Amino acid sequence: MSAHVFIAEDETPIVTLLKYNLEKEGHKVSFSENGEEALKLIKDKQPDLILLDWMLPDLSGVDLCKNLKKDKKFSDIPIIMLTAKGEEADKIKAFDTGADDYVTKPFSQKELNARIKSLLRRSKPQSSVDVVEFTDLKIDRVTKRVYRNNKEISLGPTEFKLLDFFIKNPKRVYSREQLLNNVWGENIYVESRTVDVHIRRLRQAINIEKTKPLIRTVRSAGYPLLYRKKQLHSVDASPQPSMDWRSSGTAGSTAAA
Ligand code: CA
Repeated sequence: MSAHVFIAEDETPIVTLLKYNLEKEGHKVSFSENGEEALKLIKDKQPDLILLDWMLPDLSGVDLCKNLKKDKKFSDIPIIMLTAKGEEADKIKAFDTGADDYVTKPFSQKELNARIKSLLRRSKPQSSVDVVEFTDLKIDRVTKRVYRNNKEISLGPTEFKLLDFFIKNPKRVYSREQLLNNVWGENIYVESRTVDVHIRRLRQAINIEKTKPLIRTVRSAGYPLLYRKKQLHSVDASPQPSMDWRSSGTAGSTAAA
């Protein structure tokens, strides 16, 4: 389970130690030692989880937390408050500001890792797992590899991000704008036609001959990742027992389709 963890903490040794330990766990880490800067970076990078020190220069952890929690775009990012204070009143205050968890310094890294894992599992069940499957499509977020029908597919980085995004919410139709914001990021200027180009490349890469593309076009609405049992008819002809990730109901049975 790997995620992008943001550390807002002004004690450099703690940042260094946290960064080292989190990267060892496979997480990507960004950080800032200043409250104002942290807020800016968090809004820009949209991390999966935030470790937030209670007292920070320029903008306190408490205020930073309040700021994020009142903004719909960022309120879902889980926040673990880090603080030297162990008083009951402070814990209550931390939760009142919207923090999701609370750790008192000095904390054990093991315990923190466990708390991070549990928060990630709760907040983003689909993005916190390393391997995600959708019908006969499988993506490995750690190795950045994609497989369809057990065969590896080579994808460019943008196509990988697109597919990873679609797979989080299969069947949902996304407009070009939504794809731009979520895959390319809101602060990047890309023409909406670029989305079509990458969708086309992604389709070509994951397509199987004589089957309908997994990424459909819904006229004047956008693109969903869709699957109908029938579209696998040409692949189902011979049973492939090694495909344990496929539901047993469809494996090797053409009659069902
Ligand atoms: Ca501090």
